[in-house]
Amino acid sequence: MHWESFYVRSEHIRGSQLRLVDEEVHHLTRVMRKQKGDLIWAVDGLGTAYQVCIDSVSRNEILGHIVKTRRRIREPIAELTLAQGILKGDRFDFLVEKVTEIGVRRIIPVTSARSDVVAGPQKITRWKRVAMAAMKQSGRCLLPEISEAVSLDRVLTMGSNYHKRIIAHPGKGSHSVSLTPKSKGSLATQKILMVVGPAGGFSDEEIGMANENGFHSVSLGPRRLRSETSGIVLCTIVLSQLGELE
Ligand code: SAM
Repeated sequence: MHWESFYVRSEHIRGSQLRLVDEEVHHLTRVMRKQKGDLIWAVDGLGTAYQVCIDSVSRNEILGHIVKTRRRIREPIAELTLAQGILKGDRFDFLVEKVTEIGVRRIIPVTSARSDVVAGPQKITRWKRVAMAAMKQSGRCLLPEISEAVSLDRVLTMGSNYHKRIIAHPGKGSHSVSLTPKSKGSLATQKILMVVGPAGGFSDEEIGMANENGFHSVSLGPRRLRSETSGIVLCTIVLSQLGELE
């Protein structure tokens, strides 16, 4: 499968026929110069990739038929959720792009005591667009879900749905990340919830609350990392330890 793919809405697939619309049309015809008869890959963001032969090209749509279907290609089996303190400027855009490339399944923008950045609907829409572009560019077929902004208190109560809960904290009580991959052939999916603080970090009270709720404090080494670096590094360590970067 080629790395670069195009987005097809699931409601635009009927049997073996498929329709591409909006910016995908512009990108395919003007940028990639694709024509009738060419083969391309389209992904639905829900876990399926389709190899498509283009049947017709017009200003508003591209019609094609499916030649090959692949499920969950290049997707980690582990389900990683990153709950991350909201960041100023375009730093959260950068984070969303990178953790999408790495393989995260869900991103939760978090508000907490030392974070005064607001994430309204416009920002959420922008982050969804960034995630879409990163999914297509990295050859993934699952579009990470980006939730509304959620308070840290609320995130800490979500933990029971996950096998492992981790909070990154550069403090004395933190240990290095230690995860064991499931045995080969195991059907169970490992669901991991990772929490990373905003630029101002978490208060001692917040870390105490997280620990009471079963979150293990983990260290990312002796240096103080920027929040977005921490999210990227934590996702990478977790996927690597689960054998998902091989
Ligand atoms: N002054 C803040 C503090 O003392 O917590 C610094 C916050 S740091 C810029 C932002 C977030 O990145 C932290 O809340 C933590 O989640 C994560 N982080 C940064 N460096 C880390 C490290 N060495 N180990 C674990 N987490 C780290």
